[in-house]
Amino acid sequence: ALLVASSVGGLSEVTAELLRGAGASERLLELLGQEPQIQPPREPRALPSPGIGRIEIRDLTFAYPAHPDNPVLEGLSLGIAPGEKVALVGPSGAGKSTLFQLLLRFYDPQQGGIRLDGLDLRDLHPTDLRQRIAIVPQDPVIFGADAWENIRYGLADVSDDAVRQAAEAAQATEFLDRLPQGFGTFLGERGVRLSGGQRQRIAIARAILRDPLVLLLDEATSALDAESERLVQRALETLMECRTSLIIAHRLATVRKVDRILVIDRGRLAASGRHDELMAADGLYARLARLQFHADQELDPRLPITAET
Ligand code: ATP
Repeated sequence: ALLVASSVGGLSEVTAELLRGAGASERLLELLGQEPQIQPPREPRALPSPGIGRIEIRDLTFAYPAHPDNPVLEGLSLGIAPGEKVALVGPSGAGKSTLFQLLLRFYDPQQGGIRLDGLDLRDLHPTDLRQRIAIVPQDPVIFGADAWENIRYGLADVSDDAVRQAAEAAQATEFLDRLPQGFGTFLGERGVRLSGGQRQRIAIARAILRDPLVLLLDEATSALDAESERLVQRALETLMECRTSLIIAHRLATVRKVDRILVIDRGRLAASGRHDELMAADGLYARLARLQFHADQELDPRLPITAET
C-alpha cells in the first residue's frame, strides 16, 4: 500500500519524485495530474554532515487532503535513536505507510512534526532530505532503461564503478552479470523482466548508492524463492548496518531481529517493546503476530519460529 500505487487516479508519488529529480517542472507535474503537495522552505537549513540519524516524532496528526476530517495519524509521538532498528507493526490501515510518506515529506502534517537530527523536515530542502532518507518499497519500480540507469535512478555524477559496487553489496551482480549485455541490458516492461527478489535487490542497490542516514523498508509480504530470499536478506543486512532503520515488517524473522517493535494502531503508538515482551503482554501485538506471522510460517516453513531462545 506504499507510494508506488498510492495516488488515487493520479501520478504515483515515486514517478512524480523521479520526474522532479529528472528536472521536470512543477507545471509539468501539475499537467500530469499531480498537485505539488509541499513547498520547499525559502531558506532551507542544511542537515549536519555526516549526521547521526536521530528521528523525533512529536504529536503528529495528519489527514490526507481528500479526507480532511479523517486523520490517519493522531497525536503520534515516538523517538528513534541513531542506528536503531525498529519494526512497525499494526493492522492494515493503521498508518504505517503514511508515516513513511511523511518521513519523506510527500505531505506535511496538520499538527506536530518530525525532526531529523534536530531539524524539522519542513526546514530542509526536500532533495536534501530524500538523499538522507532512502526507501526500499515492497514492490520496487523498474524503469525502461538499462541497469546502470535503474540503479543510478536520478543521481548525477555517479561513476560506473560506484554503481557496480552498490550492486555488489546488494547481491545484484549475481543476476545482472548474467544478462545478455550485463549492466547494459535494457530492463522494464519492454526489456528483461525481473523477479520480485531481483527488483528488490535493484532497489537495495539504489539505496546503498545514496548512502542514506535513515532507511525505510517496506518488507515484501509475498514469499520469495529460497535463494532469492537469502540474497535479499543478506543485502538488507549490509544496507541496514549502522543506519537508523524503520521496517514495516511482515516476517517473524524480522521482528525478532530488530531492537524494538512499535505497534501502531489507528494512527497512534499502542505499545512498544521486544517480540517476547509484547507476546507476553498478550495485547494487540500478540493477536496480530498469531494471525500474521503464524500464517507466514505455514506458507514458509523456513522461518525460524522456534529456533531462537
Ligand atoms: P497496510 O498495512 O494495509 O499497508 P498501513 O498501516 O500502511 O496499512 P496506510 O497505508 O498508511 O496504512 O493507510 C492508512 C489510511 O490512510 C487507510 O485508511 C488508507 O485508506 C488511507 N490512505 C492511504 N493512502 C492514501 C491516499 N493517498 N489518499 C487518501 N487516503 C489514503
